[in-house]
Amino acid sequence: MKHTRRDFIKQLGIGTVAISVPTLFSSCGPRTRPPNILFIMSDDHAEQAISCYGSKLINTPNIDRIANEGVRFNNSFVTNSICGPSRATMLTGKYSHLHGLRDNRDQFDDSQMTFPKLLQEAGYQTGIVGKWHLKTDPTGFNNWKILRGQGRYYNPSFIEQGGESRQYTGYATNLITDFAIDTLNDRDPDKPFCLLVHHKAPHRNWMPDIKHLNEFDDVELPLPETLFDDYKTRLATAGQADMRIDDMYLSFDLKLHKEAYGQETGTGGNKNWAVNVEPTWENTYNGLNEEQKKAWDAHYTKINREFKETDLTGKELTKWKYQQYMKDYLRCVLSIDENIGRLLDYLDQHDLVEDTIVIYTSDQGFYLGEHGWYDKRFMYEESLGMPLVMRYPREISRDQVLDELVMNLDFAPTFLDYAEVPVPQEIQGESYRSLVGINKPYDWRTSIYYHYYEYPHGWHGVKRHYGVRTDRYKLIHFYNDVDLWELYDLQEDPNELNNVYDQPEYSAVRERLHKELQELQEKYQDTNIEYS
Ligand code: CA
Repeated sequence: MKHTRRDFIKQLGIGTVAISVPTLFSSCGPRTRPPNILFIMSDDHAEQAISCYGSKLINTPNIDRIANEGVRFNNSFVTNSICGPSRATMLTGKYSHLHGLRDNRDQFDDSQMTFPKLLQEAGYQTGIVGKWHLKTDPTGFNNWKILRGQGRYYNPSFIEQGGESRQYTGYATNLITDFAIDTLNDRDPDKPFCLLVHHKAPHRNWMPDIKHLNEFDDVELPLPETLFDDYKTRLATAGQADMRIDDMYLSFDLKLHKEAYGQETGTGGNKNWAVNVEPTWENTYNGLNEEQKKAWDAHYTKINREFKETDLTGKELTKWKYQQYMKDYLRCVLSIDENIGRLLDYLDQHDLVEDTIVIYTSDQGFYLGEHGWYDKRFMYEESLGMPLVMRYPREISRDQVLDELVMNLDFAPTFLDYAEVPVPQEIQGESYRSLVGINKPYDWRTSIYYHYYEYPHGWHGVKRHYGVRTDRYKLIHFYNDVDLWELYDLQEDPNELNNVYDQPEYSAVRERLHKELQELQEKYQDTNIEYS
């Protein structure tokens, strides 16, 4: 948390600027009214599957376009790596223990302050389409049209305010974009808009659109370095999680039919599947219509036949599961990227580029085979990180890549800052408007705080933990039915394979991080932790 003045700021000799940023870098004149905000978010989209983040797996030209025409954040993090809590943090600018969503069982208190409410009060037209996942109905929006719960990939039902649930034929990512465009078409052009376009994809169980089923068919995707992690030095924490690719359901996750595998070996989930659907092939396939089933049969029947014939075991089976998982995941990402392209085209065609802030992010990161895993939850890099790219030509120069530590806590104050709406004292995040402008703050945060709660009742057996991350180090405390500390040196060990907490050469670092952690817990008012 202790601040250091960055070198280039030393040279410039300037300090924090909290309000309007000069537009020296921008290609257009000063703004005449608050900017529009187009906040596009997906669910579980990892940086490792975005080409501007150096992906070895996929090309995402439309997400890259936002980054190239604006800014990409290299160090963007989540406060609690799970869907509902992350969304509540984005809306409120607060940590889980204050907004009330510690895990996905909690229900959002819709009477609390959110940035859409404040923007709406300030004269914005506010809207959300897509995934909401906070159980109570959205408040603070002029228009909303949301999926029921997690929603379905194919032929999903949406609820809109004042209306009944209605089922639509088609693919969720395309439909959500259709509804976003309808909302933009119906807006009052005399008012600024703030539209949240929140996708379901690429959430488990990774069901691709028909048009992308055959992408990656002939590709052998590179294996992550840590696919066969043995969890040495982390056996009681990382080693206990039930989220290895080996734990995936052969049916639900990997789209295999019973005839192809005989005995289901998947365990990665929750005993209480009543909250969702049984993890079976039937529950995946039966929601498709006849035409969709035909396309799926044409694709997956061949895969099933080959799986049965090859009869893989051991590491070869794990590698096959990895390829099968990743290809479906990446196909879902292709739909996200092309639908972002549709929205960027809309802004081009309606002369909205200069006056619209476009953000793309995900509610958290995800494991794409790293440490042998899928899913999220841990404070390790792949799920702590969340992609974040942003474009606003009127204030943000092109081709910026920033290393400052930003968080999902910062969305609410950032949007309010751009709208020039006062940021309430209770908001715990910081606006990064000044980070991306010319007058950089010299006192930006130098560490972040994390807290995950969903244990023992949740999925995947990831124990409760909290921790601190600086630009180089990470200290984590796992608690509840364990009391274990981990320390990683991200410079020496970027894959976080070596817990050095007990190594004497790290004793000074360890002490410093303990102090930092305590300061952050006090700063964010997270001092009443229940340890059992
Ligand atoms: Ca998620």
